[in-house]
Amino acid sequence: GATLGMLGGGQLGRMFCHAAQSLGYKVVVLEPSSASPAGSVAEQEVVAAYDDENGLAVMLQHTQAVTTEFENVPAASLKFLSHTARVSPSAAAVAVVQDRIAEKAFIASQGIPVAPYAEVRTVADLEQADETLFPAILKAARLGYDGKGQARVKSRVEAIEAFKSFGEVACVLEKMLPLKQEVSVVMARGFDGSTATFPLGVNTHINGILSSSVVGIEAIDPAIEEAAKNAAVKIATGLNYFGVMCVEFFILEDDHLVANEIAPRPHNSGHYTMNACLSSQFEQQARVLAGMPLGSTELLAPTIMLNILGDSWFAHGDQAQEPDWASVLALPGVHLHLYGKAEARKGRKMGHVNIVNKDPALVLQYARQVSDILHLGAKI
Ligand code: ATP
Ligand code: MG
Ligand code: MG
Repeated sequence: GATLGMLGGGQLGRMFCHAAQSLGYKVVVLEPSSASPAGSVAEQEVVAAYDDENGLAVMLQHTQAVTTEFENVPAASLKFLSHTARVSPSAAAVAVVQDRIAEKAFIASQGIPVAPYAEVRTVADLEQADETLFPAILKAARLGYDGKGQARVKSRVEAIEAFKSFGEVACVLEKMLPLKQEVSVVMARGFDGSTATFPLGVNTHINGILSSSVVGIEAIDPAIEEAAKNAAVKIATGLNYFGVMCVEFFILEDDHLVANEIAPRPHNSGHYTMNACLSSQFEQQARVLAGMPLGSTELLAPTIMLNILGDSWFAHGDQAQEPDWASVLALPGVHLHLYGKAEARKGRKMGHVNIVNKDPALVLQYARQVSDILHLGAKI
């Protein structure tokens, strides 16, 4: 079969490799550090910076189609690759979602509600920001993830202080909204314009990092699920986006739906699809890249995904200790996915567990047991 290219060597790249290889494709990974989670399972690992033209040229020698696993890949690299390879997502689409200012403006331009916000480039912008935005969250426009590059600010004074502590980089100041639930839609869009949306997952975070995604258990108003899926498809179509995309939404206390942000790639909140759906989000990414038809996104059974952070290695002290995998794997319907990272560190994503069962009560029961065994403290 053909060879597919992956920019980035993290866990998302690794799971893409597994899915693509299962479909008969070879994968070349480009990543600056050697023996990365993806590089060590790919057929070929190119060790180079993401903007290194020699490294990119080596990629092009071997692949006809290239994708990425993170949104901060240099747009210029995607453009370079696109001269001779099929590239998904495009440089133009990535440029929009790399920048919260452009991203929010784009989502709003599609008629999809976003949190009230102001663009902040100078202290003067904060001095003039609408009083009704407070209390607010100041978010750096670029490079933030897992709640990094954000500050919760009660007042204008606090916002100015936070803006200065960020080094006065471009930001959005976003009104703090009363959230009932956080949900996400993972979807795929093929080069023929076909789309497939996965079921809505309900997400909880701990310390700004995704902790759990619950699918097919909590009751969600079908009208809200439909609206979220339609909004995600509208965003992908409007961006002329090809590939897998995730859109995070807030459901507010009054049931209004607000789009939060876009990830131009498979997303942590879509990891449940690996065991809960007929095709996973990574299989969809490989299918799109290879120009194949999209797979079925049907949910086979209620599922909970629990993230495993490096903290699980330090539940008993400062000495890293391997968690009790045997007790986890002894539970019915449990699928363990570890990313092959050399070293466990607190706050570092090491793997995840999918707990699948036809009976929602049993999914919850087993998920709570997994959370206890691994000391995850999941709020489920
Ligand atoms: P990710 O790791 O998902 O990329 P991120 O660092 O890009 O996260 P956001 O998703 O923008 O950050 O925000 C992180 C979390 O902060 C959200 O999941 C939500 O819990 C909370 N949050 C963000 N914006 C708002 C808001 N306007 N009102 C209330 N809570 C918010
Ligand atoms: Mg984000
Ligand atoms: Mg987010």
